[in-house]
Amino acid sequence: MEVFDPAELWSRERIEETQLVRLKNTVGQARKCDFYRQRLDEAGIGPDSLRSLDDLRRIPFTTKEDLRTQYPTGMLSVPQTEIVRMHCSSGTTGSPVAICHTQNDINSWADLMARCMHMVGVRREDVFQNMSGYGLFTGGLGIHFGAERLGCLTIPAGAGNSRRQIKLAKDFRTTVAHILPSYALILGEHLRNMGEDPREFPLRVALVGAEPYTEEFRRRIEGLFDMKAYNSYGLSEMNGPGVAFECLEQSGMHLWEDAYIPEIIDPETCQPVPDGEVGELVMTCLCRQGMPILRYRTRDLTRFIPGECGCGRLHRRMDRILGRSDDMFIIKGVNVYPMQVEQVIMTFPEVGQSYLILLENDGIGDVMRVQVEVRDEFFVEDMRALQNLQKSIAQRLRDEILITPKVELVQSNSLPRTEGKAVRLQDLRAKK
Ligand code: ADP
Ligand code: ZN
Repeated sequence: MEVFDPAELWSRERIEETQLVRLKNTVGQARKCDFYRQRLDEAGIGPDSLRSLDDLRRIPFTTKEDLRTQYPTGMLSVPQTEIVRMHCSSGTTGSPVAICHTQNDINSWADLMARCMHMVGVRREDVFQNMSGYGLFTGGLGIHFGAERLGCLTIPAGAGNSRRQIKLAKDFRTTVAHILPSYALILGEHLRNMGEDPREFPLRVALVGAEPYTEEFRRRIEGLFDMKAYNSYGLSEMNGPGVAFECLEQSGMHLWEDAYIPEIIDPETCQPVPDGEVGELVMTCLCRQGMPILRYRTRDLTRFIPGECGCGRLHRRMDRILGRSDDMFIIKGVNVYPMQVEQVIMTFPEVGQSYLILLENDGIGDVMRVQVEVRDEFFVEDMRALQNLQKSIAQRLRDEILITPKVELVQSNSLPRTEGKAVRLQDLRAKK
């Protein structure tokens, strides 16, 4: 197999040996900042305490709150003059945190990203269009540098502006794009409204990530453009994209274990869950000097996929993100994730590109409303067909989440659009 980096084909022994060496170095590096030196001393972890990978579990977790209190530069492990770039998390779930990188950090991140793209068949002959926001968001420059590292003609198109995206892609014959799942459907719809068939669009591969989406959603994107869509996972705290990526098998994302140590824990007990069970992903970076982060609680819920991948790589795979622990909402005593709702509604061919879950209180109790965009060709049908659709969606949702929401069918393009990550949930209950 042709690979970008020989580390992709390492044996488990080689991966684990390297992890231990790099973990020791990373802990040594982290001790150069006051925050970690204090934390590690309190936990009794000295420079020589780590004898095996199991000792990782003695290291205390790092939380988003830690990063917030150390903002902006409290967690630097090098003098600030060594830092060449900073990024912030998108702030989807609160005030942002800043992550600072040295030139070496940036280079190894670009290598990881190039490795991911190469794995799904992207080569220097490809024209790559990055349709995600640039600026502080890591999906811009992070993927950009990976594409350049591969040698692709790289178009930094940025987010939104479908008309310009389409023109650039046609003029330069773009073959590969990085695109947020919510935006992929919007772009397809835009092409259709221009009277064009999205399947004629030159794209053959899309890297799709940055926000949760279901398998049903992926199939939709692939069918719409007649292309392959590969799931891409990352978070600013661990650089950004390039942390885990699907291979051609499309059966889970390989976590690059030469660069990270992933763990999946029970968020309540903080103990590891058995292989294959869902828990919270915890990540330690192994290749960062500017701002190493140990045992970071991502709040993302997923599971390790047991067994070996058909592609032959032995880096473990994780399942698509079920949701963030912060996304979960409780209604009438039931725990629900927005992805459960998406999974149901995206199986209906009548459903268009977007949906929104609204939680309200009508004075008597909590009410869940789901607004679902319906594709234009179905909206013109008679009332009865629409009522039936509404009923079947409500019933299927009830089967999945055990409560019956109010389903409202709305016209396509009527729900609010964002240029960044899609907003799938509005909880208006507290504001009453
Ligand atoms: P924020 O947490 O503010 O959105 P980031 O821009 O760093 O900040 O986004 C990282 C988060 O995005 C991850 O923790 C995860 O919740 C989500 N995410 C990234 N890639 C994916 C993916 N492929 N599937 C699901 N969620 C993803
Ligand atoms: Zn694989």
